[in-house]
Amino acid sequence: MDLFDISKLNTYKTSGKSFCDMARRIRINPLIADYYEQLGSDYDDLLVTRGFNTTDFQTKCHRRAERILQCGRTVSTSTWKESKVHHIKSVQLCADKFCGNCQKQFANRREHRYTPLLNVLNEKYDLYHVALTVPNCTGFFLPDTVGKILKAFGKMMKFFLCRKKIRGLPFEGLGCRGAIRSLEITMNESMSTYHPHLHCMFVFRKGINLDKPKVFTNNFSFSKGRKVQQFSAFEVLIQKLWRLCFDGDKVTKAAIEDLSEGYSCIVNYADGNYHQIFKYAVAGLLADKKKAMRKDGNVQRGLSYTEFKDLYFALENRRALQGYGCFYGLKLDEAELNADDAADEEIRSIIHSLNGIEECMYSKEKLRDVIENIVIKNHVYFSDKDIKSNLESLAEDDT
Ligand SMILES: [Zn+2]
Repeated sequence: MDLFDISKLNTYKTSGKSFCDMARRIRINPLIADYYEQLGSDYDDLLVTRGFNTTDFQTKCHRRAERILQCGRTVSTSTWKESKVHHIKSVQLCADKFCGNCQKQFANRREHRYTPLLNVLNEKYDLYHVALTVPNCTGFFLPDTVGKILKAFGKMMKFFLCRKKIRGLPFEGLGCRGAIRSLEITMNESMSTYHPHLHCMFVFRKGINLDKPKVFTNNFSFSKGRKVQQFSAFEVLIQKLWRLCFDGDKVTKAAIEDLSEGYSCIVNYADGNYHQIFKYAVAGLLADKKKAMRKDGNVQRGLSYTEFKDLYFALENRRALQGYGCFYGLKLDEAELNADDAADEEIRSIIHSLNGIEECMYSKEKLRDVIENIVIKNHVYFSDKDIKSNLESLAEDDT
């Protein structure tokens, strides 16, 4: 090992903590796997067709269960045994919607990849964070409500992108270039209802200050009887437009004016903060559940089977993230599993040096062995920047 620069290797070293964080995040996966098996047997007469393939729902659920159980448990490496050095080539992931391990890494990757693009846009345009909500619903109506929300957003975007006009309301003046919308579902624990809503990033013409001045008061201004916020004229307009789109009503200037109140919507200048829109759909919900569980150690406060089932049918075959206008076609929902950049120059030179000392062996290692090797046996695990930053992102909270 002293044949080459140890400090160079240290830059690419993956800490034992990263793997411990992964182990922590997949701790809930056996429970989700049980839920998948149960879901499969509850709907064992269901058939699912994709393209030309038809499988029964139970088999599909069983495969999901197996995949989520395996998530993060195998690390593929090249190992230089004598030198006690391992090069991480990939970590087997499951890409499941309910896997905190995968979703956290995908969210991190999205943010990492698209923040530079938003920063560039921010120089020429103003970016706004827009939150759109609808009344809470029960589990029974959740799939239908989510479907309606996504459809309503598509309808509303047509007005913003001026593909459809509302007589008397010149949307051209906003100079909207596009938007990214991100679906989130949280829960109202006390009333056991769901709160599906959208976090969006809108690109508007520079300098029109849509979120100011906040001078209008309505029902959404109050929380627990206290006045907590006021709205700008644009926010009030969005609230009403959004309501008409969601309720499936005809959108005209008169219809907007006749509406005494819309649905709660908030518009704020993003000011370089884009984190919210890259999150995954149930991140906040699972974080809340975890917090409640930690508080009194009651496992019942974790995700229940009924809640899992409600969320499963609400999110299945839906795009949680979608780009419109200038963001159309952006790959936001993909589930990539391996590092996509070829190993860079430095990594190649490290591998070259190691190969000069001894021959490497390809191996599939169990997560618990990896942790033991690093923490107890002082082995070195290194990986390229992509895998390293993905693993490190697991330490943060989901909120
Ligand atoms: Zn996973």
